[in-house]
Amino acid sequence: MTADCIFCKIAAGEVGADVLFEDDDILAFRDVRPVAPTHVLVIPRKHITSLAQADPEDQALLGKLLLGVRRVADELGLVEAGYRTIINTGRGAGQTVFHLHVHVMSGRAWTWP
Ligand code: AMP
Repeated sequence: MTADCIFCKIAAGEVGADVLFEDDDILAFRDVRPVAPTHVLVIPRKHITSLAQADPEDQALLGKLLLGVRRVADELGLVEAGYRTIINTGRGAGQTVFHLHVHVMSGRAWTWP
């Protein structure tokens, strides 16, 4: 837990969020400023600032994070329509909350890249 981190506070239950599910390692909650009809964030409870700070010891946790994305998609019925997952890493990529999180977004059209 990092004292000034909003996602650590959500994980600790100190700040409210629309939580879809949680376990000992990860939690999934709805983004407070959604950019798609469905916009969920999946985070590790452990404070990892970004993917750039993930260590080899985090291997299993990172796997759980992606399986958490799959669970969001399954539980919200996103698989047929498709969903986009994004991990912004660093300010230059648009990261604004410095606690690793995966965006899971669905229900609108996307362009690429
Ligand atoms: P990023 O720009 O990739 O760091 O994404 C951070 C995301 O966190 C943004 O989409 C914000 O809308 C979202 N966010 C920030 N604070 C909260 C909060 N208290 N509850 C839910 N989502 C949040």
